[in-house]
Amino acid sequence: MLGEGILRGLAETARNFFGSYVSKQRYTTVEYPEVRIAPIEAARVFPFLVYDEGMKDGGRPEWEAGLRCTSCQICEKECPPKCIFIEKSKEKKPDAFGKQQFYPVRFDIDISVCMSCQICVEVCPFDSIKMDTQFELATDDRFGDLLVHVDKLAKSNSYYNSIHPSEASAIDHHREETKAMLAVKAKAAAEAAAAKAATAAAKPPAAGEGA
Ligand code: SF4
Ligand code: SF4
Repeated sequence: MLGEGILRGLAETARNFFGSYVSKQRYTTVEYPEVRIAPIEAARVFPFLVYDEGMKDGGRPEWEAGLRCTSCQICEKECPPKCIFIEKSKEKKPDAFGKQQFYPVRFDIDISVCMSCQICVEVCPFDSIKMDTQFELATDDRFGDLLVHVDKLAKSNSYYNSIHPSEASAIDHHREETKAMLAVKAKAAAEAAAAKAATAAAKPPAAGEGA
């Protein structure tokens, strides 16, 4: 029927208008900035780097010791507008699994160029880079505030859990499973090495040995 789409659209508008007086789900606008709606879990703005809390490595600050990023540079290569700049360390530091890894001595993101596509997040093999939900970032300092360095990009895993709880807790669970599996493997290897050493020690000396 001619005009059916317009009538359906008007009906939906009326449903939202009158429904907003009785249902919060229909109440879709607020008087920002006096009133603010908390960002939904799926919201994404610009990336940040996750660090694990409580890790220590010499005199490094906590964020640097716990940084998950291994400076593999996959995100830098895959970023469509090329707004990630990474410089890899010369030496390594232990990661949360006890493995020695490189880390970024420089990790900058130019958020004036970033298009929030999330490709960096999808390609990262270490669950290191995630999307932040902070959006009030307007500034007149182009390079001071919009070229964000690693110390400002680094945010704790607790913060990550607070903004993306489902995703972050699934990752935490997976990481705990990996840690437990590595601990079992390390224990089995240590036991095998101890058994081998004990067998070697108990072996009687060959003829001519120990004379
Ligand atoms: S969100 Fe997209 S554009 Fe922004 S840094 Fe990641 S890959 Fe680059
Ligand atoms: S954020 Fe992830 S993909 Fe990018 S360099 Fe670090 S570990 Fe590699």
